[in-house]
Amino acid sequence: MAAEVIDGKAFAGRLRERVAAAAAAFEQQAGRKAGLAVVLVGDDPASQVYVASKGKATLAAGMASFEHRVPADIAQAELEALVRRLNADPAVDGILVQLPLPAALDDQAVIALIDPAKDVDGLTDPNIAALANQRPGLFPCTPFGCMLLLQDRLGDLSGKDAVVIGRSQLVGRPMAQLLVNANATVTVAHSRTRDLADLVRRSDIVVAAVGRPEMVRGDWIKPGAAVIDVGINRLPPAEGEARGRLVGDVAFAEASEVAGSITPVPGGVGPMTIAVLLRNTIVAAHRIAGIPAPAGL
Ligand code: NDP
Repeated sequence: MAAEVIDGKAFAGRLRERVAAAAAAFEQQAGRKAGLAVVLVGDDPASQVYVASKGKATLAAGMASFEHRVPADIAQAELEALVRRLNADPAVDGILVQLPLPAALDDQAVIALIDPAKDVDGLTDPNIAALANQRPGLFPCTPFGCMLLLQDRLGDLSGKDAVVIGRSQLVGRPMAQLLVNANATVTVAHSRTRDLADLVRRSDIVVAAVGRPEMVRGDWIKPGAAVIDVGINRLPPAEGEARGRLVGDVAFAEASEVAGSITPVPGGVGPMTIAVLLRNTIVAAHRIAGIPAPAGL
């Protein structure tokens, strides 16, 4: 039987509507708009596209957007001074520094400076500790979005066997922690893992965040499993194509023959990331202003 295809785009659209309603109510109560500042260092084309779409989505949700585009050869001290100014700016509730930074810059030092209350990417140590200790905080957008999709599809995750493939700071590690916090039994796989296929075959939940096109095959999937594909990979163009196709880390056609539900690429996890960024910003704005955030965010 074919898997249910999880429509991340539609789910993200509904989340963005709830954020917009919360942003309008926040403006009434606080007497100002919630604001998100995005810092883009250099002119990497992919990063420029991400930053532009984040800015557009922020405005569409009724929040203020502040874009800071700085040259790739900016001095570390100057970039740090910008982050300090944004920390102190009362119009800014969320700060996102678009990663990766050019190699000459120390990204960890820049991240460490972000006020944890405004750290909408959930990358500062206090927010990582909050996630580990199950305290309120701001958590990374992509894995948080994956959790929303999983909980919507499966309800309670207690006792489910989950495998997270990938252990990056931005996706794999926080994903595993979120699943543990939701009482799943979690295995984290990475490039040194032995017999990945066997691990995946035993899992009710598979989250693939690797960056290798169609690595997870259909015959690895346990029948009925929920498959969340975080990967975004562009294949080389086939003959007659101007650009290659976008594919995930999971061989979608094969896996959807076996899985219970599966996210497509594109249109699955991708749209959730920006929606959760907006969600984190409005949640941060409420906390900073001392106003209770509405339920359902
Ligand atoms: P990283 O490159 O930081 O991490 C990749 C992880 O995959 C590493 O932990 C690595 O292991 C592991 N890995 C590599 N090869 C294998 C293998 N053969 N078997 C098992 N594990 C392996 O990537 P990210 O976490 O940042 O991103 C992963 C993917 O998700 C990318 O395709 C990226 O484009 C996409 N992405 C999508 C987002 C969205 O909004 N949909 C947002 C962020 C990322 P090791 O640690 O041992 O090196």
